Amino acid sequence: MQFLRPDAILSDAEALYLDHVLLVEGAHIAALVPYAELGRAYPVQRYPGELWTAAPVLAHAHLESHDAPSARWRRERFAEWVGELLAWRAQAGRLSPRESAWRALAELSAAGCGLVLAHVGEPGADGRFGPQRQAAPRFPEVVAFPEIFAPDPAETEDWLARLDRRPPQAGGGYALHAPYSVSESLATGVFARARAWSVLVSIHLGEHAEERQMLQGAGPLSDLFAARGRPGKSGTWRSPVDWLAAVGGLRAPTLAVHGGDLDAAELDRLHRAKVPVAWCPGTHEYFNRPRPAFGGAGLPPPALGCDSRASNAALDPLREVRLARRLLPEFGPQAWWAALTHGGAQALRRRELGVLAAGRQARVLRLPWSGESAPAELCDRLTGDAQLRPLGPVCEPGSNGI
Ligand SMILES: [Zn+2]
Repeated sequence: MQFLRPDAILSDAEALYLDHVLLVEGAHIAALVPYAELGRAYPVQRYPGELWTAAPVLAHAHLESHDAPSARWRRERFAEWVGELLAWRAQAGRLSPRESAWRALAELSAAGCGLVLAHVGEPGADGRFGPQRQAAPRFPEVVAFPEIFAPDPAETEDWLARLDRRPPQAGGGYALHAPYSVSESLATGVFARARAWSVLVSIHLGEHAEERQMLQGAGPLSDLFAARGRPGKSGTWRSPVDWLAAVGGLRAPTLAVHGGDLDAAELDRLHRAKVPVAWCPGTHEYFNRPRPAFGGAGLPPPALGCDSRASNAALDPLREVRLARRLLPEFGPQAWWAALTHGGAQALRRRELGVLAAGRQARVLRLPWSGESAPAELCDRLTGDAQLRPLGPVCEPGSNGI
């Protein structure tokens, strides 16, 4: 048993404990007790000046394209950005997917990320480094889902046979690229398998107006697909959520990524179907997109992600939560801090994470404490102070750092 005493422990966004000791057995929290009740006989380790919180969980990212020169790419229309990305990817000299993943994880680790769900579009960008893994940062933990981009229904049989040869492992799942880039037959097969295995399907959904237009049979993305000899859709759908329902994905366990183009009624449909949303504020800002409807839907805020450096200036959970609060202040600092921690863990069905309380995993982000005594005051700083930096990578007692 370890007896760990930072100055302050933010158990969740509503509960701040001062002068308490975290009792940790193995990787799990046994109890949170007042220091005064513990007695002097126990070997308490002090961490003066430190605030500990549950580690941030980013529910969406890509570890590819870390060296993408995306700041100069045209992006008024999404189809333009896709053209820029494809042209850059065709060039020699960019980082390998593996090297990109290494740098992306180094950035996320220094920024204090505890877990990240990554769509893996390029083989090698899954955060597994073989013998080098020992030298890689221990956190964030990477949950890597190979991403399926397969708009042609002729590919369905091959893809499903491939998936059936390698059923998902515990904690695994599937990633579909988007409604416009995966055929209905393949999406239906993937969602059926996810139901059978009870694993998560993560899919970009309701990201921008061009996706909606393509589901209605028109627009710049339709033109881009046609120009590249890719097939269009097999039907038309008024809404990305209608498309999701049609292919059997409007149910748990599905994770909808982005959602910034969905209206309040569509977000409510997802919520009632127990489909969480992971929103990427940095990407939303990168594309200068209209204000999303999350705040008007009467729902809790979405979980947060950071996408990739092909559409974001940094991979940093604290920056994402600051941007989220700035873009949608109606939720308030505590709700946004909960979204970054507890919300991400819930969205990924990792209920042992996201809260520092008895029975949960002791995965801790260490931050400087500024003497706050109320959770509202503290969350205001955590979601508002651009100078705030972690004291080190996320850690678990007994493993690294503490
Ligand atoms: Zn993405």
